[in-house]
Amino acid sequence: MSLPPDQMIRLQTQLQREQRWRELSRASAQKSIQPLTSSVNPPFDDVSPAATSLDTLKTRLIRTISHEYRTPLTIISLAAESLAQNRTRLTVEQRQQCFRQIQQAMRRMTKLINDVLWISQAEAQEIEPHFSAIPLADFCERILEELTRLHPEWGDRLQAQVRTPFVAVPSDPFLLQQLVLQLLINALKYSEPEQPVTLELVIARAMLRIRVCDRGRGIPASECDRIYDCFYRAQNVESIAGTGLGLTIAKQCVDLLGGQIDCTSRLGQGSEFQVKLPLAVRHRRR
Ligand code: ADP
Repeated sequence: MSLPPDQMIRLQTQLQREQRWRELSRASAQKSIQPLTSSVNPPFDDVSPAATSLDTLKTRLIRTISHEYRTPLTIISLAAESLAQNRTRLTVEQRQQCFRQIQQAMRRMTKLINDVLWISQAEAQEIEPHFSAIPLADFCERILEELTRLHPEWGDRLQAQVRTPFVAVPSDPFLLQQLVLQLLINALKYSEPEQPVTLELVIARAMLRIRVCDRGRGIPASECDRIYDCFYRAQNVESIAGTGLGLTIAKQCVDLLGGQIDCTSRLGQGSEFQVKLPLAVRHRRR
């Protein structure tokens, strides 16, 4: 059976439009993922072995986003359903609990998007550090407050030490806080609830040295050099939630501050992250 000519033309136009839309979507998806991958991978038209790692990265990106979104979406859906169906039967406390669950789930989803956007901005060199004098003792106190706000159960596990005669150091407060907080969150997350975590800030040889130590599960030696990669998670942490973006962000902060980050870890015994930040040089990446 053949279609009347005007329908045939409409069908052809529609098919051409869909084909064009598919091409545009592919191009736009590649463009938006490019900044995330440019530092660790070659451009998309490169078919060298490194292109395979780009595929791995894309797979990790899709797996993480879909996995990280599925859980909070289920929570939102169940809480909303419960609110709608049991409106009159729920107590005030139960209703508040549902709202809290919805808010937490939304925060988790927003964080993932914000982290991805921040990394892509940093990769595209769109973030400039803004230096100011940071009083170290206040800084430590604020870190502790923020940590306790995010995870009240972790507050008393942290032992912080500022070992320096200097009252303040020049740095970017946002980048420094993001960096230290991320290292502490990992140290606390990957060790048992009764294990302490130490944070040490020392000034030596015109450098601010930051040490974060834990006695947790450690990182397999063969994976230590990959933990800063986007979405990378070591084999031994599958039972603990995470996105594999925290250390990518921490490394970006260190780069923006012109410093260096190193990790020594022993499986089953703990990890130590050491950051060295120059105090005098105001590093610019451009
Ligand atoms: P995640 O969201 O998985 O914690 P990160 O980028 O912060 O992502 O860390 C990447 C990986 O490095 C983690 O998944 C974990 O395997 C490993 N890791 C980082 N910090 C620690 C630590 N203190 N102890 C053990 N493993 C760690």
